[in-house]
Amino acid sequence: MRAPGARPGEAEVHVLWLNAGLSCDGESVALTAATQPSVEELALGALPGLPRLALHWPLLDYASGPQLGPDDFTEWFRRAERGELEPFVLVVEGSVPNEAIKEEGYWSGFGNDPETGQPITTSEWLDRLAPLATAVVAAGTCAAYGGIHAMQGNPTGAMGVPDYLGHGWRSKAGVPIVCVPGCPVQPDNLSETFVYLLYQLTGQAPMIPLDDNLRPAWLFGETVHEGCHRAGYYEQGEFAATHGSDRCLVKVGCWGPVVRCNVPKRGWINGVGGCPNVGGICIACTMPGFPDRFMPFMDEPAGLQGTPPAGGLYGRLVRTLRGIALHNVEEEPEWRRRGDELTSGYEPAWRKGSGHG
Ligand code: SF4
Ligand code: SF4
Repeated sequence: MRAPGARPGEAEVHVLWLNAGLSCDGESVALTAATQPSVEELALGALPGLPRLALHWPLLDYASGPQLGPDDFTEWFRRAERGELEPFVLVVEGSVPNEAIKEEGYWSGFGNDPETGQPITTSEWLDRLAPLATAVVAAGTCAAYGGIHAMQGNPTGAMGVPDYLGHGWRSKAGVPIVCVPGCPVQPDNLSETFVYLLYQLTGQAPMIPLDDNLRPAWLFGETVHEGCHRAGYYEQGEFAATHGSDRCLVKVGCWGPVVRCNVPKRGWINGVGGCPNVGGICIACTMPGFPDRFMPFMDEPAGLQGTPPAGGLYGRLVRTLRGIALHNVEEEPEWRRRGDELTSGYEPAWRKGSGHG
Protein backbone atom coordinates (compact mmCIF):
# COMPACT_ATOMS: atom_id res chain seq x y z
CA MET A 1 0.00 0.00 0.00
CA ARG A 2 1.28 3.47 -0.93
CA ALA A 3 0.91 6.50 1.30
CA PRO A 4 -1.61 9.09 -0.01
CA GLY A 5 0.24 11.96 -1.64
CA ALA A 6 3.08 9.81 -3.02
CA ARG A 7 4.07 10.85 -6.55
CA PRO A 8 3.40 8.27 -9.29
CA GLY A 9 6.29 5.84 -9.61
CA GLU A 10 7.99 7.23 -6.52
CA ALA A 11 9.67 4.62 -4.33
CA GLU A 12 8.90 4.80 -0.63
CA VAL A 13 9.67 2.95 2.57
CA HIS A 14 7.15 3.18 5.38
CA VAL A 15 8.39 4.00 8.85
CA LEU A 16 6.15 2.98 11.72
CA TRP A 17 7.33 4.95 14.72
CA LEU A 18 6.24 3.29 17.95
CA ASN A 19 6.86 5.82 20.70
CA ALA A 20 4.73 3.94 23.19
CA GLY A 21 7.69 2.68 25.19
CA LEU A 22 8.72 4.30 28.46
CA SER A 23 10.38 7.49 27.32
CA CYS A 24 10.38 11.26 27.35
CA ASP A 25 9.89 11.43 23.54
CA GLY A 26 13.44 12.82 23.36
CA GLU A 27 14.26 10.96 20.15
CA SER A 28 11.22 12.40 18.37
CA VAL A 29 12.17 15.88 19.50
CA ALA A 30 15.83 15.30 18.60
CA LEU A 31 15.05 14.18 15.07
CA THR A 32 13.39 17.51 14.31
CA ALA A 33 16.87 19.05 14.72
CA ALA A 34 18.66 16.74 12.27
CA THR A 35 20.53 18.41 9.42
CA GLN A 36 22.59 15.60 7.86
CA PRO A 37 20.05 14.84 6.49
CA SER A 38 17.03 16.67 7.81
CA VAL A 39 13.71 15.00 8.46
CA GLU A 40 12.20 17.12 5.66
CA GLU A 41 14.72 15.73 3.17
CA LEU A 42 13.87 12.18 4.28
CA ALA A 43 10.11 12.70 4.23
CA LEU A 44 10.03 14.49 0.86
CA GLY A 45 12.36 12.10 -0.95
CA ALA A 46 14.95 14.80 -1.58
CA LEU A 47 17.98 12.48 -1.42
CA PRO A 48 19.00 11.46 -4.95
CA GLY A 49 18.70 7.77 -5.68
CA LEU A 50 16.87 6.91 -2.46
CA PRO A 51 13.21 6.24 -1.73
CA ARG A 52 11.39 8.67 0.45
CA LEU A 53 10.40 7.80 4.00
CA ALA A 54 6.64 7.63 4.44
CA LEU A 55 6.75 8.61 8.09
CA HIS A 56 4.01 7.43 10.42
CA TRP A 57 5.37 9.32 13.36
CA PRO A 58 3.36 11.12 16.06
CA LEU A 59 5.21 14.35 15.23
CA LEU A 60 4.67 14.19 11.46
CA ASP A 61 2.44 12.06 9.27
CA TYR A 62 1.31 13.47 5.94
CA ALA A 63 -0.82 10.38 5.44
CA SER A 64 -3.17 10.64 8.40
CA GLY A 65 -6.13 12.92 8.82
CA PRO A 66 -9.48 13.51 7.10
CA GLN A 67 -7.99 14.70 3.78
CA LEU A 68 -5.13 12.33 3.07
CA GLY A 69 -5.65 9.15 5.02
CA PRO A 70 -7.18 7.46 7.99
CA ASP A 71 -8.26 9.66 10.86
CA ASP A 72 -6.91 7.05 13.20
CA PHE A 73 -3.11 7.19 13.27
CA THR A 74 -2.94 3.62 14.55
CA GLU A 75 -4.62 2.39 11.35
CA TRP A 76 -1.18 2.40 9.67
CA PHE A 77 0.07 -0.01 12.31
CA ARG A 78 -2.94 -2.25 11.74
CA ARG A 79 -2.34 -2.16 8.00
CA ALA A 80 1.21 -3.33 8.62
CA GLU A 81 -0.10 -6.12 10.80
CA ARG A 82 -2.45 -7.19 7.99
CA GLY A 83 0.55 -7.37 5.65
CA GLU A 84 -0.55 -4.34 3.60
CA LEU A 85 2.64 -2.25 4.09
CA GLU A 86 5.73 -3.48 2.33
CA PRO A 87 8.46 -2.68 3.08
CA PHE A 88 8.35 -1.01 6.46
CA VAL A 89 10.89 -0.17 9.16
CA LEU A 90 9.73 -0.35 12.76
CA VAL A 91 11.27 2.39 14.90
CA VAL A 92 10.90 1.93 18.65
CA GLU A 93 11.32 4.86 21.02
CA GLY A 94 11.38 4.15 24.76
CA SER A 95 12.07 1.05 26.82
CA VAL A 96 9.80 -1.98 26.87
CA PRO A 97 8.15 -2.57 30.24
CA ASN A 98 7.62 -6.14 31.32
CA GLU A 99 3.89 -6.85 31.23
CA ALA A 100 4.43 -10.41 32.48
CA ILE A 101 5.29 -9.48 36.08
CA LYS A 102 1.77 -8.66 37.25
CA GLU A 103 -1.71 -10.07 37.11
CA GLU A 104 -3.71 -7.06 35.97
CA GLY A 105 -3.34 -3.65 34.37
CA TYR A 106 -0.64 -2.62 31.94
CA TRP A 107 2.42 -0.35 31.98
CA SER A 108 2.26 1.17 28.50
CA GLY A 109 0.19 0.78 25.39
CA PHE A 110 -0.74 2.32 22.07
CA GLY A 111 -4.29 2.36 20.73
CA ASN A 112 -7.05 -0.11 21.46
CA ASP A 113 -7.78 -3.46 19.94
CA PRO A 114 -11.00 -2.90 17.90
CA GLU A 115 -12.19 -6.41 18.69
CA THR A 116 -11.82 -6.28 22.46
CA GLY A 117 -11.71 -2.54 23.15
CA GLN A 118 -8.67 -3.19 25.31
CA PRO A 119 -5.35 -1.31 25.03
CA ILE A 120 -2.65 -2.93 22.94
CA THR A 121 0.51 -2.94 25.01
CA THR A 122 3.90 -1.87 23.68
CA SER A 123 5.30 -5.37 23.97
CA GLU A 124 2.28 -6.76 22.12
CA TRP A 125 2.91 -4.36 19.23
CA LEU A 126 6.48 -5.62 19.13
CA ASP A 127 5.23 -9.21 19.03
CA ARG A 128 2.85 -8.34 16.20
CA LEU A 129 5.04 -6.13 14.01
CA ALA A 130 8.68 -7.12 14.51
CA PRO A 131 8.30 -10.38 12.53
CA LEU A 132 6.86 -8.41 9.58
CA ALA A 133 9.35 -5.52 9.59
CA THR A 134 12.21 -5.35 7.13
CA ALA A 135 14.31 -3.72 9.87
CA VAL A 136 13.82 -2.71 13.51
CA VAL A 137 15.56 0.41 14.83
CA ALA A 138 15.83 1.04 18.58
CA ALA A 139 16.10 4.83 18.76
CA GLY A 140 17.69 6.22 21.92
CA THR A 141 19.21 4.51 24.94
CA CYS A 142 15.88 3.51 26.49
CA ALA A 143 14.88 1.50 23.43
CA ALA A 144 18.41 0.21 22.91
CA TYR A 145 19.30 -0.93 26.43
CA GLY A 146 16.53 0.12 28.85
CA GLY A 147 18.06 3.42 29.99
CA ILE A 148 16.76 5.43 32.93
CA HIS A 149 13.56 3.40 33.34
CA ALA A 150 15.52 0.17 33.63
CA MET A 151 17.78 1.28 36.45
CA GLN A 152 18.08 -0.66 39.68
CA GLY A 153 14.95 -0.58 41.80
CA ASN A 154 12.55 0.16 38.94
CA PRO A 155 9.01 -1.23 39.28
CA THR A 156 8.26 -1.96 35.60
CA GLY A 157 10.96 -4.49 34.70
CA ALA A 158 11.79 -2.22 31.73
CA MET A 159 14.30 -3.40 29.15
CA GLY A 160 15.64 -2.53 25.72
CA VAL A 161 14.32 -3.93 22.45
CA PRO A 162 17.21 -6.43 22.14
CA ASP A 163 16.55 -7.62 25.70
CA TYR A 164 12.95 -8.22 24.65
CA LEU A 165 13.39 -9.70 21.18
CA GLY A 166 16.81 -11.26 21.84
CA HIS A 167 20.26 -9.88 21.02
CA GLY A 168 20.65 -12.32 18.14
CA TRP A 169 17.25 -11.44 16.62
CA ARG A 170 17.14 -10.87 12.87
CA SER A 171 14.41 -9.31 10.75
CA LYS A 172 12.82 -11.25 7.90
CA ALA A 173 15.43 -9.53 5.68
CA GLY A 174 18.24 -10.78 7.94
CA VAL A 175 18.98 -7.38 9.51
CA PRO A 176 19.91 -7.34 13.24
CA ILE A 177 18.20 -4.85 15.55
CA VAL A 178 19.89 -1.49 14.90
CA CYS A 179 20.48 0.41 18.14
CA VAL A 180 21.19 4.15 17.97
CA PRO A 181 21.68 5.09 21.64
CA GLY A 182 21.90 8.49 23.27
CA CYS A 183 19.79 10.20 25.91
CA PRO A 184 18.53 11.68 23.72
CA VAL A 185 19.97 10.37 20.49
CA GLN A 186 22.22 12.74 18.57
CA PRO A 187 19.86 13.87 15.75
CA ASP A 188 22.16 13.21 12.79
CA ASN A 189 23.23 9.83 14.15
CA LEU A 190 19.62 8.75 13.79
CA SER A 191 18.87 10.37 10.42
CA GLU A 192 22.17 9.09 8.99
CA THR A 193 21.33 5.57 10.17
CA PHE A 194 18.02 5.83 8.30
CA VAL A 195 19.95 6.85 5.19
CA TYR A 196 22.25 3.86 5.53
CA LEU A 197 19.27 1.53 5.86
CA LEU A 198 17.67 3.08 2.76
CA TYR A 199 20.87 2.42 0.82
CA GLN A 200 20.92 -1.13 2.12
CA LEU A 201 17.25 -1.82 1.44
CA THR A 202 17.66 -0.61 -2.15
CA GLY A 203 20.68 -2.86 -2.71
CA GLN A 204 23.20 0.00 -2.80
CA ALA A 205 25.07 -0.84 0.42
CA PRO A 206 26.12 -4.02 2.24
CA MET A 207 24.72 -5.14 5.59
CA ILE A 208 24.86 -2.30 8.09
CA PRO A 209 28.05 -2.69 10.18
CA LEU A 210 27.17 -2.94 13.87
CA ASP A 211 29.35 -3.38 16.95
CA ASP A 212 28.84 -5.96 19.71
CA ASN A 213 26.10 -3.83 21.25
CA LEU A 214 24.29 -3.41 17.91
CA ARG A 215 25.36 0.22 17.38
CA PRO A 216 26.35 1.48 13.91
CA ALA A 217 30.09 0.84 14.09
CA TRP A 218 31.17 3.97 12.22
CA LEU A 219 29.26 6.23 14.63
CA PHE A 220 30.26 4.62 17.94
CA GLY A 221 33.79 3.36 17.26
CA GLU A 222 35.61 6.06 19.22
CA THR A 223 35.41 7.36 22.74
CA VAL A 224 34.20 10.79 23.83
CA HIS A 225 37.72 11.48 25.08
CA GLU A 226 39.21 10.79 21.65
CA GLY A 227 37.08 13.54 20.16
CA CYS A 228 37.04 16.03 23.02
CA HIS A 229 38.29 19.60 22.66
CA ARG A 230 39.68 19.38 26.20
CA ALA A 231 41.89 16.31 25.62
CA GLY A 232 45.01 18.52 25.42
CA TYR A 233 44.36 19.73 28.97
CA TYR A 234 43.95 16.14 30.12
CA GLU A 235 47.33 15.32 28.61
CA GLN A 236 48.90 18.34 30.32
CA GLY A 237 47.35 17.42 33.66
CA GLU A 238 45.20 20.57 33.82
CA PHE A 239 41.91 19.62 35.45
CA ALA A 240 38.85 21.67 36.33
CA ALA A 241 38.13 21.69 40.05
CA THR A 242 34.71 23.27 39.57
CA HIS A 243 32.25 23.69 36.72
CA GLY A 244 32.71 26.75 34.56
CA SER A 245 36.36 26.00 33.81
CA ASP A 246 37.68 25.35 30.29
CA ARG A 247 40.06 22.59 31.55
CA CYS A 248 39.50 18.83 31.47
CA LEU A 249 36.39 17.79 33.40
CA VAL A 250 37.43 14.33 34.57
CA LYS A 251 37.79 15.36 38.21
CA VAL A 252 34.27 16.74 38.28
CA GLY A 253 32.77 13.55 36.91
CA CYS A 254 33.47 13.15 33.17
CA TRP A 255 33.40 9.50 31.98
CA GLY A 256 34.64 10.41 28.48
CA PRO A 257 37.70 8.12 28.41
CA VAL A 258 35.56 4.94 28.46
CA VAL A 259 32.40 6.03 26.66
CA ARG A 260 31.64 5.33 23.00
CA CYS A 261 30.03 8.45 21.53
CA ASN A 262 30.79 10.86 18.68
CA VAL A 263 28.97 13.88 20.10
CA PRO A 264 32.11 15.92 20.92
CA LYS A 265 33.20 15.53 17.28
CA ARG A 266 29.81 15.89 15.66
CA GLY A 267 28.24 18.47 17.93
CA TRP A 268 24.55 18.48 18.77
CA ILE A 269 22.82 20.56 16.14
CA ASN A 270 24.45 21.42 12.84
CA GLY A 271 27.92 20.87 14.33
CA VAL A 272 27.39 23.12 17.34
CA GLY A 273 27.66 21.96 20.97
CA GLY A 274 28.71 18.54 22.29
CA CYS A 275 28.68 17.82 26.03
CA PRO A 276 32.30 18.26 27.29
CA ASN A 277 33.08 20.76 24.53
CA VAL A 278 30.59 23.14 26.09
CA GLY A 279 31.22 22.38 29.76
CA GLY A 280 29.03 19.36 30.49
CA ILE A 281 30.54 16.20 31.93
CA CYS A 282 29.95 13.03 29.94
CA ILE A 283 27.56 10.83 31.95
CA ALA A 284 27.84 7.95 29.48
CA CYS A 285 24.30 8.16 28.15
CA THR A 286 25.04 6.04 25.06
CA MET A 287 26.30 3.06 27.03
CA PRO A 288 24.53 -0.24 27.76
CA GLY A 289 25.39 0.10 31.46
CA PHE A 290 23.82 3.58 31.71
CA PRO A 291 22.89 4.85 34.24
CA ASP A 292 23.72 2.30 36.95
CA ARG A 293 27.39 1.70 36.11
CA PHE A 294 28.17 5.44 36.04
CA MET A 295 26.55 6.71 39.23
CA PRO A 296 26.86 8.89 41.22
CA PHE A 297 27.27 11.20 38.24
CA MET A 298 29.13 14.12 39.78
CA ASP A 299 31.94 12.12 41.41
CA GLU A 300 35.36 11.65 39.88
CA PRO A 301 35.33 8.30 38.01
CA ALA A 302 37.79 5.93 39.65
CA GLY A 303 40.93 5.28 37.64
CA LEU A 304 40.26 7.67 34.74
CA GLN A 305 42.35 10.67 35.75
CA GLY A 306 46.05 10.92 35.03
CA THR A 307 48.46 12.37 32.53
CA PRO A 308 49.51 9.60 30.16
CA PRO A 309 52.24 10.51 27.68
CA ALA A 310 51.23 10.28 24.04
CA GLY A 311 53.05 7.04 23.30
CA GLY A 312 55.55 4.49 24.57
CA LEU A 313 55.08 1.66 27.03
CA TYR A 314 53.00 3.76 29.42
CA GLY A 315 50.63 4.80 26.64
CA ARG A 316 50.12 1.15 25.69
CA LEU A 317 49.46 0.27 29.33
CA VAL A 318 46.86 3.04 29.60
CA ARG A 319 45.15 1.85 26.41
CA THR A 320 45.05 -1.72 27.76
CA LEU A 321 43.56 -0.61 31.09
CA ARG A 322 41.04 1.59 29.25
CA GLY A 323 40.06 -1.42 27.16
CA ILE A 324 39.33 -3.43 30.32
CA ALA A 325 37.34 -0.58 31.87
CA LEU A 326 35.44 -0.08 28.61
CA HIS A 327 34.54 -3.76 28.48
CA ASN A 328 33.11 -3.63 32.01
CA VAL A 329 30.88 -0.61 31.37
CA GLU A 330 29.69 -1.98 28.02
CA GLU A 331 27.51 -4.57 29.77
CA GLU A 332 23.90 -4.10 30.78
CA PRO A 333 22.88 -4.92 34.37
CA GLU A 334 21.57 -8.47 34.62
CA TRP A 335 18.01 -7.57 35.69
CA ARG A 336 17.06 -6.19 32.27
CA ARG A 337 15.49 -9.28 30.73
CA ARG A 338 12.25 -11.09 30.07
CA GLY A 339 10.56 -13.33 32.60
CA ASP A 340 7.58 -13.31 34.91
CA GLU A 341 9.53 -12.08 37.95
CA LEU A 342 10.72 -8.56 38.70
CA THR A 343 14.43 -8.75 39.55
CA SER A 344 15.34 -5.06 39.61
CA GLY A 345 15.29 -4.90 43.41
CA TYR A 346 12.15 -2.76 43.52
CA GLU A 347 10.33 -2.66 46.81
CA PRO A 348 7.03 -0.75 46.98
CA ALA A 349 7.27 2.19 49.38
CA TRP A 350 3.99 1.19 50.99
CA ARG A 351 5.44 -2.22 51.83
CA LYS A 352 8.67 -1.02 53.45
CA GLY A 353 8.58 -1.41 57.19
CA SER A 354 4.90 -2.37 57.10
CA GLY A 355 5.48 -5.97 58.04
CA HIS A 356 3.59 -7.06 54.89
CA GLY A 357 4.81 -9.21 52.04
FE1 SF4 B 1 37.22 15.76 27.62
FE2 SF4 B 1 36.17 14.34 29.59
FE3 SF4 B 1 38.35 13.45 28.31
FE4 SF4 B 1 38.50 15.55 29.96
S1 SF4 B 1 37.98 13.39 30.51
S2 SF4 B 1 39.40 15.41 27.93
S3 SF4 B 1 36.53 16.59 29.59
S4 SF4 B 1 36.31 13.69 27.47
FE1 SF4 C 1 25.95 11.19 26.29
FE2 SF4 C 1 28.52 11.56 26.96
FE3 SF4 C 1 27.81 11.46 24.41
FE4 SF4 C 1 27.13 13.56 25.94
S1 SF4 C 1 29.20 12.97 25.34
S2 SF4 C 1 25.81 12.48 24.46
S3 SF4 C 1 26.73 12.54 27.94
S4 SF4 C 1 27.63 9.78 25.89
